Parts: sequence; C-alpha cells; structure tokens
Amino acid sequence: MNERDSEAVAALLRARGYRLVPDEDECDILLLNTCSIRDLAEQKALGKAGHLQARKRRQPRFILGILGCMAQNRGAALLDQLPDVDLIVGTQKFHQVPGYLDNLRAAREAGVPLGATIVDTAAEAGSQNEIRDHVLAERPVTAFVSIQQGCNMDCTFCIVPKVRGDERSRPMDAIVAESRALAERGVREITLLGQIVTSYGRRDYAHTGGRTPFVQLLERLHEIDGLARLRFTSPHPRGFKHDLVEAYGRLPKLGDYVHLPLQSGSNRILRAMNRPYTRERYLEIVDALRRVRPEMHFSTDIIVGFPGETEEDFAQTRELFATVNYDMAYIFKYSVRSGTAAAAMAGQVPEEVKEERNQILLRLLEQNSRRRNQALVGTVQEVLIEGPDRKGLRFLGRTRGNRTVHFAADEKLIGTLAPVRIERATTAVLYGELVPAGVES
Ligand code: SAM
Repeated sequence: MNERDSEAVAALLRARGYRLVPDEDECDILLLNTCSIRDLAEQKALGKAGHLQARKRRQPRFILGILGCMAQNRGAALLDQLPDVDLIVGTQKFHQVPGYLDNLRAAREAGVPLGATIVDTAAEAGSQNEIRDHVLAERPVTAFVSIQQGCNMDCTFCIVPKVRGDERSRPMDAIVAESRALAERGVREITLLGQIVTSYGRRDYAHTGGRTPFVQLLERLHEIDGLARLRFTSPHPRGFKHDLVEAYGRLPKLGDYVHLPLQSGSNRILRAMNRPYTRERYLEIVDALRRVRPEMHFSTDIIVGFPGETEEDFAQTRELFATVNYDMAYIFKYSVRSGTAAAAMAGQVPEEVKEERNQILLRLLEQNSRRRNQALVGTVQEVLIEGPDRKGLRFLGRTRGNRTVHFAADEKLIGTLAPVRIERATTAVLYGELVPAGVES
C-alpha cells in the first residue's frame, strides 16, 4: 500500500514538472513514505530521516519530507527529533504534496527564509479517491489499484485504524475505469489494495443476488479485455463467505492464490486479538477454497508473542500452520503500538520467547515452501512474463499460484501468458523452460 501511495504522489509530481531521479544522492527533494505497523519500521524511518537531515548543511536548498503513517502517528512531535524536516504529511493528504512543495520552493526562490515546517495530518473527506495516478514502466505488466482506505476492524494489536482512519471505499465505476485504462496501456495483472479489501463498499452498495460489493467489483473487473489476472490484498477471513469462495470457481482470472491472514491458531488468542473467527472456521475456509480450486496456494500473516500467548497457544498456531501447508507467510513478532488495546494487556511476552517462536515458524515455512515448490518440478505452469530478472540474465514471471519462476525468454514475450516447464526449485524460486508451442500470440 505504501508503494502504491508513493507511486500516486510521484505521478502527481511528474504532472507538475518534477522529475524522478534514479539515485537519492542526485535529488533536491526527498520524500520518505513511512510505515507504523511495527515499531521497527518507525525506528528505521527515524534513523534514515536523521541521516538525511545532515545533508541540509551541505545542500541548503535540499527539501526533506516525511509522509504517511509515521507522519500521521507522530505529527508535529516528529520535530523534537527531526527539527530540520520541511514537510510532514499524513495519510489523507498525499495529494496535497505537490502544492506544499511548490510553496516551499517559491519561498526559497524569493529568498524568503523558510518559516515553520508544513505539517498537515488532518482528515480529509474523499481522500480515498485521490490515490489513482500511476507511474508505469515502459512495458507495464502489473499494477496496483487502491480500492479503499482506512479500517474499522479494531484488532487489539493494530495501529492502522489510528493512522489510516475509518474505512472508506472508492466508487466502483472509478476503480473499473482506472483498471480499464491500465489494461489499455498493456497492464495484464491488477492487484487490488485495501486494509480489508473484502469489506469493500459495504456501506455504499447493496448486496445483489447474495453477492457482496467486493464480489460484484471482482466480476466487473473480470470482464475487462486484456486483463489476464486479478489479485487482491489484504482480505480478512471474515470476508470469505460462500459468494467469494464460489467466485473462485467461475472467475478464472483470480488465479490459484489467496492471502488469508491467520494471526494466531489459538482461539483464546484470536479472541484477545478481537479477530472474529476461530481456527475451525479458518480451516473451513481453506478447505472450501481447495474444493473449488484444488491447486490453491495460500499465504498468511502470523503474529507470535501476542500478550498472554502460552506455549500451548503457540503449539496450536504451529499445528494449524503445518496443516494449511502455506507456500508463503509473513511472520511478525508482536510489536507494542501505543494507543492500542493490546499495549496495555497483561502477560507481555519476553523478546527472546518471541524470537524463538518466530524462528520455529520460519523453519517450518522454509520446509513447506521447499516441499511445495519441489512438487511443481516436472509440471507445466501458466506464467505471466513480467520482464528481465534483477541480474538481467533471464526473465521472470509468476505462476497462477503466485510463485516466481525464472526462465530464458525473448523481450517480445513480456506481458504474455506462457507455459513454462518447471525444472528446478528452491525455497523461494522456481526455474524452468518455456514450452514454445503454447506461447500466447
Ligand atoms: N487484512 C489484514 C488482516 O486481516 O488483519 C490486515 C493487514 S495488516 C495492515 C498487516 C499485518 O501486520 C497484519 O496482518 C499483522 O499480521 C501485522 N501486524 C499488525 N499490527 C502488528 C503488531 N502490533 N505487531 C506485529 N505485527 C502486526
């Protein structure tokens, strides 16, 4: 989501005549878009900003801005640590950045010494509609589309509702128009973004024919010519009712992949987290999705060391983790976020216990991913070719199950769907060879 927000700001700045430079040492303006989900993310951003402040002594016209969640969370208090920052812009004000930069530069050019830092962290109605412009590669294959801002879930560990505000959805027509325009520019895969995408539009649109607004949106996007794949992140298990599970059976562009945040495998901890499902219900969803799509690949989010998590609770997480057989997972050590309910809970777990549990799950994940990837060796997978890999030696693409594959190909195949025979697998990556006869023309 931060990547998408940064892209939208960059697109607005380009439209005003600003230029993106490839190397941060070359820039006159540097904007740090920040995350607050865990304390580590904030500490990293603070360290980076502190380092950049020193540059102002060497380069007096250098402008430094802090955007996003940490700006929203800390506001003007950031100036206690970072007195030389020029701009602090919260999560509902990204689209105001170009205007603020114009003002800062005009003041400088007129020789007026810069006054106080510009700080804007106010709420703004309709701000969800402002994340819509793109900076596309020369041959774009994939793109993110923001469908919603904010969150109303109230998980006891999470700072997102505080820094992103209440849940607000964009109009369905605007999302469809943006996606169609992307497809016309060559984009083949769209990933819909929101804090809880499955809640999309629930206050703005009626359920029709037993289908939630989110499923209605998927249906409309599925009809767009040129789009080959449709992904979304992040959903909530609560959103996987019959209509969404059934949608996987009739909307092939959804692929064979679901990110399904679990957080904990213990019902006691799920209740303390205010997560409105049980481990049994979670497994029911996984089973239902595998019935509709036997090849389904799953990834998840897990928090270890939530306050009060005992060895028995963790054993349940470990057991469920192994049962689901994830291909990928984001495993987080619980991070105390001030202002959240869990921060004040008794039974905070020592760091070394969190670390130990983290390592156990990481090892399990490694074994699972390797086993799941190795099971693909010898199969032919439909791969969407995204472009050259980082070393420029081969091309890379992703399977319908969202596994990355490297293979030799031709530049002109970028953006096409091609069958690739998988020949070798590591934990994270597959290697294969194109099956030339099946390449999309
Ligand atoms: N849709 C997701 C869900 O169902 O909860 C929300 C995604 S959330 C923005 C990203 C992930 O960050 C969460 O799923 C959770 O695992 C992790 N997270 C949030 N707050 C955290 C905290 N205080 N400590 C550690 N991890 C946290």
